[in-house]
Amino acid sequence: MEKTRLGQTDLMVSKLGFGSIPIQRIPEDEAVAVIRRCLELGITYLDTANAYTTSEGRIGKAIAGERDGLILSTKSQARTREGIASHLKQSLDQLGAKYIDLYLFHNVSDLKNLETVLDPHGPMAVLKEAKRTGQIKHIGITSHQIDTAKEAVKSDQFETIMFPFNVVACEAADELLPLARKHDVGFIAMKPLAGGMLDDATTAFKFLLQFPDVVPIPGIERIPEIEEIVGVLEGPREMSAAEQENMRRLRQETGNQFCRRCDYCQPCTVEIPISTVMAFPSIARRMPRESLVSGFLADAMEKAANCTECGDCEERCPYHLPIREMIASYVELYQALKNT
Ligand code: SF4
Ligand code: SF4
Repeated sequence: MEKTRLGQTDLMVSKLGFGSIPIQRIPEDEAVAVIRRCLELGITYLDTANAYTTSEGRIGKAIAGERDGLILSTKSQARTREGIASHLKQSLDQLGAKYIDLYLFHNVSDLKNLETVLDPHGPMAVLKEAKRTGQIKHIGITSHQIDTAKEAVKSDQFETIMFPFNVVACEAADELLPLARKHDVGFIAMKPLAGGMLDDATTAFKFLLQFPDVVPIPGIERIPEIEEIVGVLEGPREMSAAEQENMRRLRQETGNQFCRRCDYCQPCTVEIPISTVMAFPSIARRMPRESLVSGFLADAMEKAANCTECGDCEERCPYHLPIREMIASYVELYQALKNT
């Protein structure tokens, strides 16, 4: 598979990366088989996170003895020195790796959070030291909020930025991507299939292939999914008239249903974590039922049932999502799952 230079890291990664959220919900032997098939198809860049439960360990099992030549990327949502040090150690153990190529501050949600990760005496100090000792090779960041992502790139403290980018949510192409290019920050596209909302892989990936320096990391659960995407990469890249028409249709139909998880809609008057609730259908497709009806997601959905429909959040959403309507239907979906 062709390789792409990941900005100033100078890492040459496969044009497609492997997103590992969905392998949490399948049996371990299947997860290992999916990862191995991805490697056979030429994927050399594997992305995971401390937050993705079994994912790091499963990747570790699948790549045991084959670490050389692979680019491993993982992330932490910890914002303290102790927290990130402990996550890093855990990741190295789980992955069975002596070093991690790319370590990311996960989900830096706003400017205040960015300030915390940029503090030279905070968790950044731990990563800089880990870089000095060779435990990690490069430091990056992930965010869903465009203003935060732009400031992160401008800070010149991160070598890569991971941001939602797909055929229906392509705002990053306007300013963020050009800025990343200017600062030579590698651009990794999360949610290339809009969190599972896009079932037309051809249109989705032909769109992304127009950006030669962008590295998409689709979440893969089943072998045929990755085979289909690799097929798109190997075929003609120009969009046919029908595909262009399909792109317009997808934008019309799903553009105002796709939550970017930016949290501009907050604060909710009754403290509903709106972006978590918005992710419910997508997570429901990828996670085991038990993770949906207990824990943080279930808490969010229980709170969502208290929505007063005041509409304040909708006025703040830059993407004009019909938040009230979406919350009501996701609460219904959650209740149905809970009762099965
Ligand atoms: S409409 Fe519902 S989710 Fe939005 S701010 Fe009001 S209570 Fe919160
Ligand atoms: S509902 Fe709108 S403002 Fe809120 S997180 Fe989603 S896209 Fe952002």
